[in-house]
Amino acid sequence: MSLVGDAADAPSAAARSRSLRLSNLTKEFAAFTAVKELDLEVPQGSFFALLGPSGCGKTTTLRMVAGLETPSSGTIHLGDTEVTYEKPYKRPVNTVFQNYALFPHLDVAENVAFGLKRRGVSNVKQQVGEMLELVELSSQAGKKPAQLSGGQQQRVALARALINKPEVLLLDEPLGALDLKLRRSMQLELKRIQTEVGITFVHVTHDQEEAMTMADTIAVMNAGEIEQMGAPDELYENPRTTFVANFLGQSNLIEADIQGRENGQVEVRVQGARASVPGDRAHSDSGSGWLGIRPEKVLIAQTGEPIDAPGDVITGGHVTDVSFVGVSTQYTVKMQWGQELMVFEQNTGSRAMLPVGTQVDVSWHPEYAFLLDASQDVSAGIEED
Ligand code: ATP
Repeated sequence: MSLVGDAADAPSAAARSRSLRLSNLTKEFAAFTAVKELDLEVPQGSFFALLGPSGCGKTTTLRMVAGLETPSSGTIHLGDTEVTYEKPYKRPVNTVFQNYALFPHLDVAENVAFGLKRRGVSNVKQQVGEMLELVELSSQAGKKPAQLSGGQQQRVALARALINKPEVLLLDEPLGALDLKLRRSMQLELKRIQTEVGITFVHVTHDQEEAMTMADTIAVMNAGEIEQMGAPDELYENPRTTFVANFLGQSNLIEADIQGRENGQVEVRVQGARASVPGDRAHSDSGSGWLGIRPEKVLIAQTGEPIDAPGDVITGGHVTDVSFVGVSTQYTVKMQWGQELMVFEQNTGSRAMLPVGTQVDVSWHPEYAFLLDASQDVSAGIEED
């Protein structure tokens, strides 16, 4: 496959893999810095998600990789090849946008063949056939885009980009225009296609569930910077900042006095009760902190009744809200110090729902807790509806 530049730029025999590397990448628009000294490496062949709220700089980052935006400083490499200032069409990179941008007057096969034909490639039939098979649209080859569903149009856009055999495929909110059910099935479809073609996918989204479903690695972005990067379960289970704890799923964050580190545990006091946090999940060692616990890790029982599997316990709450959502029941529990905790209980059918007003205790296994520095805004990353 022909890559960027000529043979002189080609990786040496001892070439490193063709990972995408952004080093110290910054983009300023007048006085506003949209992307700040970003450092990240996307391994070749991985599915990488840039996740963050609107305006955090994800699209600007993607546009710099595509060559549609010039960085203010920093570099972009693909393997050993620097592409920071390379023209977009000379980069082995293609982009799939949210608004598919298909040619309405061309049929599906012609849309997919477009890039190859423009490059003067003849006899494209076989490659187009393979691509349509990959995206499961072989039977729709003769249709015009307007005769397709949203999901099918998105798959044409994907085939049209993949036929160019880019090293990196950039996806900018590619499922944003689809309804929820279609989005879910397209997430699985995209993951299957990426695994099959083995091309590096960099996917931009503000939808945390979408990022977690598909990506091998997620970089959570906030205000132009990466807050935390890692595998989805790693970020979810062990967030390092209040922003990540709140943006990726939901968290109960309770004010805690940190007592100190002992035997690999950090001991804390929360509202008079004792609790502990495993050392590798404690991101602060002294002073005050936020003790974090995910709602589905909190157990609940009527006061006086045994809690299923007790760990660290706080007594004296009462239920202020109950919502039955099928697979689980979601409780809001007001504690004595005024804070409302979220508790998600799986509907195993083992007991009846606890009605509003019930006096309850809450408990969790210490190994599920995490501890964050209290200097951070406790509500950072909470999205308004
Ligand atoms: P969204 O999900 O809403 O697209 P995003 O995280 O992709 O958000 P960007 O589009 O990268 O965010 O924008 C980051 C910030 O840079 C925003 O505050 C935006 O207003 C600003 N910005 C983007 N492009 C320009 C531009 N051409 N001139 C000035 N400011 C810009």
